[in-house]
Amino acid sequence: MALIVQKYGGTSVGTIERIRCVAERVEKAHKEGHRVVVVLSAMSGETDRLLRLAHEVTALPDDRELDMLLSTGERVTIALLAMALRARGLDARSFTGRQVGIMTDSAHTKARITKVVADRIREALHKGVIPVVAGFQGINEQSDVTTLGRGGSDLTAVALAAALKADRCIIFTDVDGVYTSDPNIVPTARRIDKISYEEMLEMASLGAKVLQSRSVEFAAKFNVPVEVNSSFKEGNGTLVTREDEDMEAVAVSGVTGDRNQAKITIVGVPDKPGIASKVFGLVAKAHINVDMIIQNMSQSGLTDISFTIPRVDITKALPIIQDVAKGIEAKSVAVTEAIAKVSLVGVGMRSHSGVAAKMFDVLSREGVNILMISTSEIKISCVIDEKYVELAMRSLHTAFGLDQSPAESRPAKS
Ligand code: ADP
Ligand code: ASP
Ligand code: MG
Repeated sequence: MALIVQKYGGTSVGTIERIRCVAERVEKAHKEGHRVVVVLSAMSGETDRLLRLAHEVTALPDDRELDMLLSTGERVTIALLAMALRARGLDARSFTGRQVGIMTDSAHTKARITKVVADRIREALHKGVIPVVAGFQGINEQSDVTTLGRGGSDLTAVALAAALKADRCIIFTDVDGVYTSDPNIVPTARRIDKISYEEMLEMASLGAKVLQSRSVEFAAKFNVPVEVNSSFKEGNGTLVTREDEDMEAVAVSGVTGDRNQAKITIVGVPDKPGIASKVFGLVAKAHINVDMIIQNMSQSGLTDISFTIPRVDITKALPIIQDVAKGIEAKSVAVTEAIAKVSLVGVGMRSHSGVAAKMFDVLSREGVNILMISTSEIKISCVIDEKYVELAMRSLHTAFGLDQSPAESRPAKS
């Protein structure tokens, strides 16, 4: 008898019909003798709908109020699933983040989990009750509701699995595993049977939204084996686990695209010591994550500094950056939203050379201009014009030998 955390994403609970299917799956695992803890997302599109409502009220909604609003989506699905399970004669109970004791810091809309109490979940399991937990939400020290960043229900599931020492954490979604690239963009993508935490973390941070990157970080830290699988059909999925030797055989194991970034350029910055520390110190203080940074060569004592930040943070970040620019006597600030980052990921890059050169060659043959480049031991990323991102992903996928053979072809969505 295993203890299993099952997480169902937005599409999997998008309609009453699908909620009934989830109830059926939960019942099956329960009847097989497993103890099951369910974690749910809001119905698909609901979190976006709530965000749109907030932005209809004001251009810059207060983060605490946003969390109060966004956390409602998951309350709806947990109550509905608990009802569906009870209607099948099972003893199920829904629990909010507060009731579970998902404690977080106060960084509203992207809070970090500090502790998972989970006493009520243990108690429920002990009594044979099936707990249905609201993903994506927690509470801070003041008992204010917080949310864990987009896709944060994955993190709730992994954190609960770690706290309960569950045997397995299964992320049920609308694809049957982690693919070499987004199967809805690259139809020739292949399902990966087993992927290391490190590679998965890079892929997730670089745009593969099948798992939230922080959930992978958490899983690696607490050694939680995570399985990604389809909520619509039975079959093999992908296991995210520790690296083993055969994972190094190929140089590149995945291609990702990320359209959620924007480029900011501070033009005409005096080229003297201390400027970068001032600029990025103030940006960090406003909790804005800076990703890539490029500083151009200085001409007559002036230089340009470009960097990327999440597109959703632009409204908040721009006045701060304009202030910083004024403070350092820079000439102006320019924003480019229509950019995307295309990346290659693979632990095998540590032992294979020439990957970057080949990537630049593929992009140049497609006529795609590279705006920024960044590399680490197991990834290479290029920022390009957003309109070329799908073309770039498909060309790189083919060039690095990741395409499935025609015999393997399968529908991307179940
Ligand atoms: P859920 O609502 O279940 O959390 P998400 O939409 O967050 O589901 O994640 C699943 C989606 O992730 C897929 O539909 C797919 O388009 C996308 N995706 C991006 N990259 C990958 C990848 N490498 N492998 C599988 N799916 C991917
Ligand atoms: N409902 C939240 C979102 O759409 C959390 C999740 O689905 O994981 O981001
Ligand atoms: Mg998700």
